[in-house]
Amino acid sequence: MKFSMPLPAAIVIAAATALVISYSIYRPEFAGVTLLIYFFTVFLLSVTVFIINSMYSRHKSSIDASDFTSIAEGLNTEIIIWADDYSFIYLNKKIRDELGIEYNGYDRIEALNMAFGLRGRDPLNLIKLSECPNFEVTFRNRRQTNTTIAWSTSVVKKRKKNSIHLTTGFNLTELKKMKVNLASANDFFNASMELAEIGFIMSTSKDRKKYAVSPEAVRMFGLKSNSIDVNTLRTLIHPNDRTQFDRAVKSNDNSGEVNSIEMRIKPPDGTYRWFSFRYKSIKPTDNTMALFGGALMDISQERAKDILIERLAFIDEVTEIPNRNRLMEVGQETYDTSMLLNYSYWIIVFDIDRFHIVNDTCGYNNGNYILKNFAHILYKYVTPGGLAARISGDNFALMLRDYGDEELPMLTARKIQDEFAKLAVDEFGAINLSCSCGYSKMPEDGKSFLDVMEHAEFALKSSSGTRSSICGYAPSMHDSIIGKTELEKSLALAIDNNELQLFYQPKINLKTGQIMGVEALIRWIKPDGTIIKPDSFVPIAESSHLIGKISEFVLSEGCRQNMLWQKMGYPKIVMSINFTSTDFYQNDLREKVFDALTKSGLSPEWLEIELTESLALSDVDFAVSQMNKLRELGVKLAMDDFGTGYSSLSYLQILPITLLKLDRSFITDIRSNNIAFQIVSSVINIAKSKEIETIAEGIENKEQEDILRTAGCDYGQGYLYGKPMPAQKIEEFFDRAKRGAMITNSTNTTRKKSGSK
Ligand code: C2E
Ligand code: MG
Ligand code: MG
Repeated sequence: MKFSMPLPAAIVIAAATALVISYSIYRPEFAGVTLLIYFFTVFLLSVTVFIINSMYSRHKSSIDASDFTSIAEGLNTEIIIWADDYSFIYLNKKIRDELGIEYNGYDRIEALNMAFGLRGRDPLNLIKLSECPNFEVTFRNRRQTNTTIAWSTSVVKKRKKNSIHLTTGFNLTELKKMKVNLASANDFFNASMELAEIGFIMSTSKDRKKYAVSPEAVRMFGLKSNSIDVNTLRTLIHPNDRTQFDRAVKSNDNSGEVNSIEMRIKPPDGTYRWFSFRYKSIKPTDNTMALFGGALMDISQERAKDILIERLAFIDEVTEIPNRNRLMEVGQETYDTSMLLNYSYWIIVFDIDRFHIVNDTCGYNNGNYILKNFAHILYKYVTPGGLAARISGDNFALMLRDYGDEELPMLTARKIQDEFAKLAVDEFGAINLSCSCGYSKMPEDGKSFLDVMEHAEFALKSSSGTRSSICGYAPSMHDSIIGKTELEKSLALAIDNNELQLFYQPKINLKTGQIMGVEALIRWIKPDGTIIKPDSFVPIAESSHLIGKISEFVLSEGCRQNMLWQKMGYPKIVMSINFTSTDFYQNDLREKVFDALTKSGLSPEWLEIELTESLALSDVDFAVSQMNKLRELGVKLAMDDFGTGYSSLSYLQILPITLLKLDRSFITDIRSNNIAFQIVSSVINIAKSKEIETIAEGIENKEQEDILRTAGCDYGQGYLYGKPMPAQKIEEFFDRAKRGAMITNSTNTTRKKSGSK
């Protein structure tokens, strides 16, 4: 800083000098002392002025600029604060670092020159230039070469003299670099979002009506610009999904949590695709408004997979209606709701009568066609909140909302039966399609949906035997089950008291009219003479361990009786006995049969064991091995009730049977029902090709007999020839047959050897 004398001080000193010189001339004797005092005084005054001047100057500048310097020091912008006369020049840390100078110990004018990069020029002019807009200086010798700084100056403290200026320098080179980096970061972001196929939308207006759209979202939705208003966006969304989108937009959840919805969106010229929209609301700050926006991701493929998985798990493949799993799931939900809201529902279960045989004879494709059509018929009766499902092979279920009409299940079931029968007439000519139904009510008929379903199935089974039956569940149906224990007890006693007796029903050779065998059918004859039929007690015996005792009796008694007849000189015939699965799957089955034969002395070829299909199919491999053991003994095997259960002609290939018993239900209407005739004929032919003999059960009239004989059926059994009867009656039968043979002068009362191979 330069020393400068203030003007008033100079005038005072000049006046005092003139006074001292005048006085020294007037009084020369005091001139020496006067001059000494004078120079001493001037010296003191000068020193004082210098100190005051110096203090004044420093005080004046620091007070004006200190506020600015303390702020400017730490800023990341080049800042110079200066006074007009350069009595104060401050350069902030950013600029000092750039120039490589310390805060103290540098010539500030020199530093100012360096800052502006133009050495040797009048800094005042240069700094004045910085007051012009767009004043830029490019450096070559600064730390960063080729740095362009844009300077701009403004007055921060205006005074008449020595105003304070603030000059800021923006490093344009750094700024450009930042812009490049920013641009590449943006590109990277956009590229990533494109690869990840994630689009973004973000509100640009406080009312969330206008949105900025990311390039990927523009591409996804085929938009023409990167902004969209909420109404246009809504038109792209599937009408069913708009409400949840509206809810998202209106949500005022400022918790910062991310929410998510799934909706279908369609580009103007495309098709709907599924998108997940993860959105959040962002709180406003002092500088920003409230924002709302989120990420959109195409999830159509995942959705398609989910749908496929759901289809596989819950939709029946053949009929494309819900399967049992689905019914159980929806059913339990409905059960819970019905408990809660006091609703009730009907559950109707259907069983297509003799479907398996239709399937086998009409072909697999026709079988599927029938199932599909049945499902289609059923679906027509589904009312809101209800459901139709295929629950197993030929079993279906219908869940119907109950509105107080107790007749509803019965009427609906009848309508379905009628439509199903009509389908047969329309599509399959003479085929006779029918179905049986059982129904129960929810929630009163069970403690869970499963319970209610089982009761409907229980009702269905209770009605089985007759075609086109409809049976409602009643808790009294359980009475028979409750009474079961009682029945079991008395049955056990009956066995011990010899109340069980075998009746025999003749089997006739359809070609010769001769008796070829008998079927042993058990009867429980109570002490009062009441005869109880096996259907009432065999199933109970089967569920307890009594069946073993019964079967043992039947086996030994059947063999004994047949041997007795042979000993009595009657013609040799085959004795057929019925076995349940409990008997059949015994490991010592072969030994038991062998024992009975040995004890009675009956030759094995005169013993036949009847098995049902369901019995043989519950464990095919084991059944085949058991059957083979019996066949090795020389015993014959018959497949009973063929056509009622899971009848499959393919099993004829693997089961070593010798006789096929066509179920009575085919024979009953064989005359009027062409399809029954077709089925019977084809089964007979297939059996013949496998060298399996055939017998028809339930022949009640001559017409049936004639048709069956013509169709090639080997034997017949039924009321036409005789009902099951006691042994003595059979003997009468033999005698009659013998007499008949004598009348026709035939001595040959033996039959063709049945099932011999
Ligand atoms: P299944 O073995 O199919 O026996 C034939 C059934 O049809 C017999 O009934 C017989 O009386 C009846 N039937 C025969 N011809 C005609 C006819 O022309 N018209 C009508 N409407 N019915 C006819 P049953 O004796 O009441 O036996 C019923 C079932 O009980 C048998 O069916 C068999 O599965 C079972 N069963 C009978 N006895 C025994 C036995 O000793 N042990 C075992 N495990 N089951 C037996
Ligand atoms: Mg039988
Ligand atoms: Mg039978």
